Amino acid sequence: MQINSNTVVSLMYALTNDKTGEAIETTDENNPLVFLYGVGAMIPDFETNLNGKKAGDTFDFSIGASLAYGLPSEEEIVMIPSNVFHDDKGNFDHAMFSVGTLVPMSDGQGHQLRGRILEITDEAVKMDFNHPLAGTDLHFVGKILDVRSATEEEISHGHAHGPHGHQH
Ligand SMILES: [Zn+2]
Repeated sequence: MQINSNTVVSLMYALTNDKTGEAIETTDENNPLVFLYGVGAMIPDFETNLNGKKAGDTFDFSIGASLAYGLPSEEEIVMIPSNVFHDDKGNFDHAMFSVGTLVPMSDGQGHQLRGRILEITDEAVKMDFNHPLAGTDLHFVGKILDVRSATEEEISHGHAHGPHGHQH
């Protein structure tokens, strides 16, 4: 079966920074990426590069930053009052928060965000809410492990079920 809309794809890949060759993420046969193809769960160019492939096929392609996680934006770098980071005694919680820490937060609409601490001063903490891979050109090398038809339930849920898919 070929990869197309309404198929569930299992694949393994190594993701590296296309410019530096630095390893970013690796999956293998025992822990593959499994996803419902064609519902926008993946980077659009990632899906386009896999279209029509079948089990056993390999792939090797790059996706520029602007078509992947976007380019870093100054608007995503914000100052947050340091009292947000105080412990229950009213002191800055240095045990929990230091430069480089990734902090889970939520915005005014309740969306979950992760921000990285860039700088800490007495008054404020400078945080970067850009995606960690913003500005990174991606290089994927891998192999298709399995392609099967999605069930009607998977299509109605918009995700793959079963091992390495949604468990519910
Ligand atoms: Zn489901």
